[in-house]
Amino acid sequence: MKPETLAIHASNLVKSATGDVTLPISLSTTFFRDEDGAYPGGHMYSRVSNPNRSALENTIAQLEFGEDAAAFSSGNTAGMALFQSLKPGSHIIAPDDMYWGFKKQLLSIFADILEFDFIDQTDLKLVQASIKPNTKLIWVETPSNPLLKVTDIEAIAKIAKAAQITFACDSTFASPILQNPILLGADIVMHSSTKYLGGHSDILGGVLITAKKDALWEVIKNVQQIGGAVPSPFDCFLLTRSIKTLAYRMKGHCENGKKLAEFLKNHAQVVDVYYPGLSSHPQHDIAKKQMKDFGGMLSFLVKGDGKMAKKVVNKVKLFAQATSLGGVESLIEHRASVEGPDTKTPKTLIRVSAGLEHIDDLIADLEQALG
Ligand SMILES: *Cc1c(COP(=O)(O)O)cnc(C)c1O
Repeated sequence: MKPETLAIHASNLVKSATGDVTLPISLSTTFFRDEDGAYPGGHMYSRVSNPNRSALENTIAQLEFGEDAAAFSSGNTAGMALFQSLKPGSHIIAPDDMYWGFKKQLLSIFADILEFDFIDQTDLKLVQASIKPNTKLIWVETPSNPLLKVTDIEAIAKIAKAAQITFACDSTFASPILQNPILLGADIVMHSSTKYLGGHSDILGGVLITAKKDALWEVIKNVQQIGGAVPSPFDCFLLTRSIKTLAYRMKGHCENGKKLAEFLKNHAQVVDVYYPGLSSHPQHDIAKKQMKDFGGMLSFLVKGDGKMAKKVVNKVKLFAQATSLGGVESLIEHRASVEGPDTKTPKTLIRVSAGLEHIDDLIADLEQALG
């Protein structure tokens, strides 16, 4: 089935006794055993599995062409479950502009447990040269946050396979509609489902999808079920509901993202625009090869200094000045002040998440804020 169809039907795993067309919310934390001690409904205890989480995991696994998926209570816990599943002393090759929450996890929680290098992964020779005997994971984020750098998934997969290293891809900015890293050779895909999958800025969540149910996946499932950072059945229900419209929401995000990028590109107050869909983007060809469309995320540099960027962000009326992305409402933020004093993000950079409002209203708002 095509993604539009899967997104709607993959969550209907069981026929409900009351004939519901959509899967009801199952809030029970525990499930009946039969006389032999087995669990006739397929679930034992809600932390281990429950009907709503199974429906969600099945849907996302199918959308990403994986064998299985594991849902978590946030994107951060999804990524952390993979780091926790590595043996102490393992080395990770991570991107230099890795999502700052993950960078912070490695630098604080895992500082004495794992080794890591943060490198420019658009430089494939550097990726190859960074492999050490104890390298166990190449973690890629593409498109990246906040510079929208695009990394060649297929090329990284080749490098990782040859060296027998697990290759995981944070594909949050693309969503399963625009990019499927497993089809390009990734072992594991990660999404912050707080973003496009949820799509309405009202559910926190994260997910890992695996190409194969291998030994590492067993460890990850153990971290999920015994570690217990799982989403509630209600969150799983909401997310499953959101995913039904994902393919159509992505069309709107991509269309608005592209038009905003083109508008900003031609604006006298704008120095540069980072959007993978612009032919001026340094990795536009790679983006064209591995993405179906270019998404709703973009960043731009304004003329002047950090103060000027903050002024623009404070002047918008329709865009919400807030962090995060992927919701129906457009968001804008001065990224350097979110990331704190050690960030390498340029002070003049403004990040935009294009929502689903009418493009004319969005452009008019940016026009008055920049003017
Ligand atoms: C938001 C985000 C995360 C973290 O997800 P949370 O749901 O906020 O914990 C990870 N990676 C990327 C690219 C993100 O945008």
